[in-house]
Amino acid sequence: MVDLVDTAPRNLVAPGESVRPDFPILATRVGPRPLVYLDNAATAQKPRRVLDAITDHYTGANANVGRGYYQLSHLATDVYEQARATVQHAINAEHADEVVFVPGTTAAVNLLVDTFGRDRLRAGDQVVVTGMEHNSNLLPWRRLCESVGAELVLVAADDRGRVTGEAFDAALGPKTRLAAVTHVSNVLGTVNPVRDMVASAHRRDIPVVVDGAQAVPHRQVDVRELDADFYVFSGHKVYGPMGIGVLYGRRELLHALQPYQVGGGTVKGVSLTEPVRYVPVPARLEAGTPHIPGAVGLAAAFEYLADIGWDAIRAHDDTLVRAAVAAVLDTPDARVVGDPAADPSGIVSFVVDGIHPYDVGGHLDAHGIAVRSGVHCANTFVDTFGVVGTVRLSFGVYNTEAEVAVVREALSTVKPGFW
Ligand code: PLP
Repeated sequence: MVDLVDTAPRNLVAPGESVRPDFPILATRVGPRPLVYLDNAATAQKPRRVLDAITDHYTGANANVGRGYYQLSHLATDVYEQARATVQHAINAEHADEVVFVPGTTAAVNLLVDTFGRDRLRAGDQVVVTGMEHNSNLLPWRRLCESVGAELVLVAADDRGRVTGEAFDAALGPKTRLAAVTHVSNVLGTVNPVRDMVASAHRRDIPVVVDGAQAVPHRQVDVRELDADFYVFSGHKVYGPMGIGVLYGRRELLHALQPYQVGGGTVKGVSLTEPVRYVPVPARLEAGTPHIPGAVGLAAAFEYLADIGWDAIRAHDDTLVRAAVAAVLDTPDARVVGDPAADPSGIVSFVVDGIHPYDVGGHLDAHGIAVRSGVHCANTFVDTFGVVGTVRLSFGVYNTEAEVAVVREALSTVKPGFW
């Protein structure tokens, strides 16, 4: 039995300048300039707490889990299950076995598509997604629909860049067998009314998969409050290691899933004559050696964020997003896409009319500022704004208003044809 870990906000340290020493990579220079890292929506940097947790694991507790009858293996298993309990607590799941460790959001969606989705869907059925999905929560569903003869229905976002509860509700019908929606847009940082969306789907007995990849780093996600059937996210965007992510599922749905991949760690017994007997979830869905140090690092990341506290993180996002919007609006011919300040999630996307987003990105890079420019793996959503792409500033707990001032200064000299 594993103890629950307290990941309640502790407010021990303020975001911004005071946490910067925790992140060794922030000392990096880009040529003569300090690195201004504003691509946190792609991946966040890792605090020493996470790096140390991984090193400590390899130096003091490394063994495979759930398969060794010796003390070090028992220790590794305990540590791994403790990490699961930490994640359970961080997202307020009711049971630890509702948390499955996967490589990331993309892997979690593909797992759901090939188990839950494939079981539920027949020719003529519909899957409802929003028009603002990242390709990782769009293409797997699309391929499934194509393979079974089902229809993929896209609910368009409004001009502020979010899907309204009414538009989503109107898209649900008797043929809808499931819905898959993003919590927060990775392009605009706008927030969908996921709780209402889930409620209207549930009124029709439609299960909902929520892509929380961009929500979890910016708000205290409570899967029970959202009432999500499945909620998926990536560890590396929430200051944890790469290669680890989470598939949360409501117990009765998750436990009904058949194995996605089969192999070591998934079976109770195998004989050549009897049917294979699989172990229960979560191990049933974690075939092969799991990313044990990844899980340990992810747990450390959640503990680190608890020390900062979610209210402080939200307030920090709010400050930086407002400062960034003001900086963009002061740039000639620049405009913000969507309405990121309505409910800030640390992202501001913008375009500068007459200058290609890659040129803006290249110009910022020459000032030591790392941003993403282009379509952000959400080609169809970006298309709806009639632009070739956007420049995305995305903030983390260590970014500062001084860094936004560097962006403002750099933007004041941006011009076409950088490349
Ligand atoms: N969903 C959203 C909203 C994302 O922003 C991303 C990554 O940017 C993904 C899914 C895919 O995440 P990963 O590449 O970690 O699987």
